[in-house]
Amino acid sequence: MTEPRSTFPHGTILGYPRIGRRRELKRAVEAYWAGTADAVTLEQTAAALRRATRERLAALGLGRDDSSIPESFSFYDQVHDAAVTVGALPERFAALRDADGAIGLDAYFTAARGAGDDAPLEMTKWFDTNYHYLVPEIGPETVFSLSSDRFARQVAEAKADGFTVRPVIVGPVTLLALAKATYSSPRGFDPLSRLDDLLPVYAELLSALRAAGAEWVQLDEPALVSESLPADPAVLADAAARAYAALGVRGDRPAILVAAGYAQLSPEAWTALAAAPIEALAIDLTRGAVPEAVPGLDRKTLVGGVVDGRNVWRGDLDAAWERLQVLSAVGASEISAGTSTSLQHVPHDVADESALDERLASWLAFADQKVAQVVALATGLVDGREAIAEPLAEASAALADRRTAPGVRDGAVRARAAVLDSGDFERGDYDARVAAQDAELALPVLPTTTIGSFPQTGDIRRARARHGRGELSADEYQRFLRDEIARVVTLQEDIGLDVLVHGEAERNDMVQYFAENLDGFAVTENGWVQSYGSRATRPSILWGDVARPAPITVAWSTFAQSLTDKPMKGMLTGPVTILAWSFVRDDQPLGETANQVALALRDEIADLEGAGIRVIQVDEPALRELLPLKAADQPAYLEWSVGSFRLATAGAAQATQVHTHLCYSEFDVVIDAIAALDADVTSIEAARSRGEVIGDIRASGFTAGIGPGVYDIHSPRVPSVGEIADLLGRAVAELPLRRVWVNPDCGLKTRGYDETVASLKNLVEATEAVRASV
Ligand code: GLN
Ligand code: ZN
Repeated sequence: MTEPRSTFPHGTILGYPRIGRRRELKRAVEAYWAGTADAVTLEQTAAALRRATRERLAALGLGRDDSSIPESFSFYDQVHDAAVTVGALPERFAALRDADGAIGLDAYFTAARGAGDDAPLEMTKWFDTNYHYLVPEIGPETVFSLSSDRFARQVAEAKADGFTVRPVIVGPVTLLALAKATYSSPRGFDPLSRLDDLLPVYAELLSALRAAGAEWVQLDEPALVSESLPADPAVLADAAARAYAALGVRGDRPAILVAAGYAQLSPEAWTALAAAPIEALAIDLTRGAVPEAVPGLDRKTLVGGVVDGRNVWRGDLDAAWERLQVLSAVGASEISAGTSTSLQHVPHDVADESALDERLASWLAFADQKVAQVVALATGLVDGREAIAEPLAEASAALADRRTAPGVRDGAVRARAAVLDSGDFERGDYDARVAAQDAELALPVLPTTTIGSFPQTGDIRRARARHGRGELSADEYQRFLRDEIARVVTLQEDIGLDVLVHGEAERNDMVQYFAENLDGFAVTENGWVQSYGSRATRPSILWGDVARPAPITVAWSTFAQSLTDKPMKGMLTGPVTILAWSFVRDDQPLGETANQVALALRDEIADLEGAGIRVIQVDEPALRELLPLKAADQPAYLEWSVGSFRLATAGAAQATQVHTHLCYSEFDVVIDAIAALDADVTSIEAARSRGEVIGDIRASGFTAGIGPGVYDIHSPRVPSVGEIADLLGRAVAELPLRRVWVNPDCGLKTRGYDETVASLKNLVEATEAVRASV
């Protein structure tokens, strides 16, 4: 076994945001895609960003030459980086390889984005975060071979600048555990069965990194914490044992840090990694307890992930310090302070937020502030607690200030929440509701509708920006939006839809719009976080008790309703989704925060009803994504999440039709929860799975109204009347006719008008054909 080449530093972060403080990478990459910048320019911008990151991290106190600075840059996605490096490029993109088989930038981007009929790699959520990775496709035919020297080049680039960095790469077990079988694979093929073929390529990669000057490498293995992957935790732990036994024995490699954030390692994986011939192990101590002593730790450095990589709070630094003390008792040879995950999930720097309330800002820690926290803890580990008494005391003072600051706790909000009883969560008998709604709405069989948004055209975005800059007065902007709504309403009447929407032109984003109109939220100027590829979002910060100072959507919905005799859907975002797409306070259980949002929405629904809106949709697309990774945590989550939706909607009259929308088709674990939401009508994604989900719905015994999306809005393709009628035919064959709704998969905001109008016309025509046949 090799000795470590150097000791591990006393503090590190597991990764840093890579999009740039002002989203420089987004602009550079998109310019390259658009053909307005060449590859050399793109590479130069990327190199400049990497250099700026290294210099920044060194200025914040991480060492230049002790491997404490991670190299976690990515042009698009870290899972795709690893897949491409080991040659796992689907066959349909094979022609894009260089003559020598290497996978260059164009092949990399084309696989991420697709080309012509060649569909891109699928994208899905990275564990329980809002980040989406590209799903590798691996089959029995995949030939693994080292196909990119990018990681090694980045190590050498840093070296030339005087930095010894620690390259961060998704590890072999996680790469395979997150992959899906290629389309040509035999049924039931498991990519994990290719582990032994993959390991020699990782070994070769490690030698190349060593040759380029890396002393440490970080292999990310978060699959080893998850209970939500197809592979069982015991199977994954066994794979990890085999993988690191093989990678660890080789001599010409950097020392290995295996990092497993996002939750606690499974006990099997903890035991396996402790025994493996690797030099260091990073674990998440923000979720779950400090694990028990197991054999093999005495030869390892343990990096305690005590600084939360996923929230924006300054948090309790003293408690983090104490956790490191507990960790030092499990018998590792060394202890180091770290973040729980990569910092890719948080914005760069609180100092970039000049418009934020100063007091609120003092409670926050974005990436740079978290680096400083790690550096302080590392100093404490070397020099003792007294050496960091000051930063610990400052963090504690900020925390105490936050506890007592106005707005954090609002007496009226708390008093209302305290007297809720089970009746506040019950809407009453479903059949009675159906009867009341049928009488009120008199809809045809197979009612047609859309999910809410209509295309957000350049005109709309420009008007919003001009309004933001003060170039368009409030009145002018209001008039612009009313015209837009009137246009969308007329269009829907012309197309012949049954339940109309106002089109959501007034919303920049389905969560931020509500955050801007509720007390308890703050919005940032530069708080961008990568969502996928070149896309970033700016989550709002939910810092205080939530209340609704005034109605939010009522004026828009009633204006839209005044233009038509058809029912106009009121359109709200549900409490779980508002929480999931914001940075949420960490000083009370999520369920309490969700109920505060729910009460605000409940009041909004009452006001919509009062203004004559008879159909109200409460979107919960994030219900599935917040589901905890650990099976044991899931029931409690489903209890509060479903409860908050019910609290929001249960005040509606029986004759008011409550809709909800969820945009994914993996219903496995949540189907019962969806039923428990007790909405009158639920629209879901179904087109991409060719309606397979209809069988699942039937099997689950779900009996309420259901709109399995009949066309995929993620692509500009116009579905034919025939294919929509097919899917619809399948739905009416398997589900009670009176319960089936007809709608697209999701909102239309990312589509253009040409394909939207053509698709909706086909949707109505297909519906008429199916109506005539039943
Ligand atoms: N009502 C929203 C829209 O149509 C729903 C979006 C979503 O589900 N992500 O845009
Ligand atoms: Zn959706």
